Amino acid sequence: MKAMVLNSISDLKNNKTPLELVEISKPVPNKGEILISISVCGVCHTELDEIEGRTPPLEFPTILGHQVVGIVEDLGPEANRFKLNDRVGVAWIYSSCGECHYCLEGNDNLCHDFQATGRDHNGGYAEYMVVPENFAYEIPNSFSDSEAAPLLCAGAIGYRSLKLTDLKDGQNLGLTGFGASGHLVIKMARYMYPNSNVYVFARSEHERKFSKDLGAIWAGNTNDMAPEKLDAIIDTTPVWRPVVEALKNLNTEGRLVINAIRKEEGDKETLLGLNYARDLWMEKEIKSVANVSRADVSEFLELASKIDVKPEIQEYNLEDANLALNELKQGEIKGAKVLVVNKRAN
Ligand SMILES: [Zn+2]
Ligand SMILES: [Zn+2]
Repeated sequence: MKAMVLNSISDLKNNKTPLELVEISKPVPNKGEILISISVCGVCHTELDEIEGRTPPLEFPTILGHQVVGIVEDLGPEANRFKLNDRVGVAWIYSSCGECHYCLEGNDNLCHDFQATGRDHNGGYAEYMVVPENFAYEIPNSFSDSEAAPLLCAGAIGYRSLKLTDLKDGQNLGLTGFGASGHLVIKMARYMYPNSNVYVFARSEHERKFSKDLGAIWAGNTNDMAPEKLDAIIDTTPVWRPVVEALKNLNTEGRLVINAIRKEEGDKETLLGLNYARDLWMEKEIKSVANVSRADVSEFLELASKIDVKPEIQEYNLEDANLALNELKQGEIKGAKVLVVNKRAN
């Protein structure tokens, strides 16, 4: 099969082609696993973190990609959850132990044995992959393959970050950073908290305008003060300055939820601008979002089929994965980027 593999950690600034197109043998599903013939795989900011070593793969070569949509092509021994040709998706959670208290209470995203798709196991930048059948999801018919792929990461993690804000309907929500995840989160927030106002902080005028089109009551720059105090803010930026700026806008008991797998080091010194009395006093909280649970993915896919969350899509051929990654790094976001491996009518 064809696959785009990562052979070593590298800096995209110096190496524009970190992934190599190779021909390797098709994986074989083991007990309880399914073999998926991949249709599309979304391109995520986390792939940049993997390539540049902020959350590196366990071994090389590794096939990246954790927003996978395809059809079931073969069943391993004792795999009986799906039928051949069923359309399924795979998200960031590849497996967990299934026995610890995190797994038993549905927070398998926090399991000490959490394994990630496309980092700890080969993912979707290829023609085929295997996955434990209990970590695959039926895809609602209302979405095409390319529309469904970004929902599996940006959508599911956005859903988790929204749940973690602990927002009550009617309270003010802020979003700092307005990329693929923000577009989805604002639509979910409008549905889940119809009486809440959403305030968006974004660097580009285009993003600010777009957020208003999607229902934000106010949009400003990252360092602006919102006209009202906010009860929760979700940060989806890769840097530190928005964290400091967001805390100033939080209400008493407000919570900042950081939805980023790693923060870049470049502007870390802005943290020295934190003012305890202004930014943290009055029981303000900071919480991170770690991974995504299976329940988050299934609950979100069900929610997504009820509301209009079809993402804007920009498609690339599998062979052009390096181009897509470089454009993502440079912030050229014209919609969620998706690699098309096998174009199927749907
Ligand atoms: Zn992702
Ligand atoms: Zn566990």
